[in-house]
Amino acid sequence: MSELPYPYEAQASQALFDRAAAVTPGGVNSPVRAFRAVGGTPRFMVSGTGPYLTDADGREYVDLVCSWGPMILGHAHPEVIAAVQDAVARGTSFGTPGEGEVALAEEMVARIEPLEQVRLVSSGTEATMSAIRLARGFTQRAKVIKFAGCYHGHVDALLAAAGSGVATFALPDTPGVTGAQAGDTIVLPYNDLDAVRAAFAAHPGEIACVITEASPGNMGVVSPLPGFNQGLKDVCAANGALYISDEVMTGFRTSRAGWFGVDGVRPDLMTFGKVMGGGFPAAAFGGRADVMAHLAPAGPVYQAGTLSGNPVATAAGLAQLRLLDDAAYEKVDAVSERIRSLVTEALTKEGVAHTLQNASNMFSVFFTDRPVKNYEDARTQESFRYTAFFHSLLENGVYLPPSSFESWFVSTAHDDRAVQRIADVLPAAARAAAEATA
Ligand code: PLP
Repeated sequence: MSELPYPYEAQASQALFDRAAAVTPGGVNSPVRAFRAVGGTPRFMVSGTGPYLTDADGREYVDLVCSWGPMILGHAHPEVIAAVQDAVARGTSFGTPGEGEVALAEEMVARIEPLEQVRLVSSGTEATMSAIRLARGFTQRAKVIKFAGCYHGHVDALLAAAGSGVATFALPDTPGVTGAQAGDTIVLPYNDLDAVRAAFAAHPGEIACVITEASPGNMGVVSPLPGFNQGLKDVCAANGALYISDEVMTGFRTSRAGWFGVDGVRPDLMTFGKVMGGGFPAAAFGGRADVMAHLAPAGPVYQAGTLSGNPVATAAGLAQLRLLDDAAYEKVDAVSERIRSLVTEALTKEGVAHTLQNASNMFSVFFTDRPVKNYEDARTQESFRYTAFFHSLLENGVYLPPSSFESWFVSTAHDDRAVQRIADVLPAAARAAAEATA
């Protein structure tokens, strides 16, 4: 058993992690799951019910990750499970069109007014990759603007996040992404419209699109400043570029119409994942019908997928979306607010400098006393305090994201009992944060 930096143990998880490390790089299938930012043994979960997860050692946790967003109704919601069982009993993949994918697309289009057509895919990465290709094909331009700290999946062109300067060409951030793949990506500071205008001025007629998280959750929760998204849309419209709003995280979570339902800015294209898949691999991109008409087989821009619109995934997603009525969002928003105030109260009591930011029911804590408007701000926080805070909560049965640069997520299933369990252990976690040293 490898050395644990914290006094509690997770033998079964550790044994699984050791087995995993032998056959999988770093022992995980998605890097942040490995706890590298916070240290310790990642918990291997064996089941989830409502707001709770149970790990391989039999410990139960109140889950504040919710599979990084999708599980907005909690784990194993009976109606979602029933829809999945019903679908799975009829076969798992046909490689033909099916009614389930039509119904899911109709539900999405009905909820989001600028979403005229959608194409289903299997991951958020595929959605943003395809949206960028479509934007380039439609505009016949190459360059893409993205913002530092925004994550759009592991698309080669979008992994570039390094540019702290304005309108600089980003260098690839990871080995394996070539200069050619990243060379048309312009990385700008988030919430800086002047930088966007300057980039358009520097590259007239070359920029295909601006892609932005509708309200970022991948540098912690950092909302667009008032007018920022509308400004992006206006600059794009004035320059013949497309405005792509990445709603993979916010879509059907921050309201029934996602972040569009909050700020009302009309994107040309949008991307979705997480909630719309009900815990299965379903994602989508869509938007203006005249743009989507350029997609094969209607148009020349190629995009395809063996499992796209998979009948089990679409059944889960549709069942989840149909349960997400106004009352459900009120519930999630309310429980998010309760947990946010408990966190602030506990940290304030211990004199821990922090800034709690939220976008509807998504939220995160930054260990800094200054508002966080972009990635640079986010990086100035005292992340070592998060590590102590995280481990205290984990030890006491509350599962937070294993990184200070991630959103926390709640669900309709987070009831009084779950909230009370969090409230009971927050004071100790706040104390641990206060006592932490770099
Ligand atoms: N876009 C955003 C805003 C995301 O948060 C994510 C994943 O967290 C993605 C895209 C990529 O989605 P996936 O992990 O399904 O590929």
